[in-house]
Amino acid sequence: MTALTRQCEKFLLSNTPRVRSLVPVERYQLITLKPKCLQYIKTKMQATVFKADPDYNNLTMEAQNEVLMAKAVNYEAAMYRLKQIMMSSYSLYQHCTKHQSFKHECVTCYSQFCSGVYEKLNGVMKGESI
Ligand SMILES: [Zn+2]
Repeated sequence: MTALTRQCEKFLLSNTPRVRSLVPVERYQLITLKPKCLQYIKTKMQATVFKADPDYNNLTMEAQNEVLMAKAVNYEAAMYRLKQIMMSSYSLYQHCTKHQSFKHECVTCYSQFCSGVYEKLNGVMKGESI
């Protein structure tokens, strides 16, 4: 790595990562910048926004796949967590006080269930366990 390349990487590290930042990462093997860019895109950028970025097509297919696969894994984990929250909420708020069990036709039962999910989500967002 040349001194100029190091200077460029240092400059890019001081800025908010963008899809555009990944292009020189690959071309010049900027190994310090790469994790910062990938982490930002994986966690802060929606997949549709990533794919619509004008610099998306300037990335190699390997880089596109790496980011999209990481996003898929994140979404899968989030869906699993959400499912756990839904299932644990369901067991706590199965039905309203009028019924002995959850009734699909009862708005109050659904309301109880939604309240349970909402409370669980709030708890999880505050760091409580599922
Ligand atoms: Zn009910």
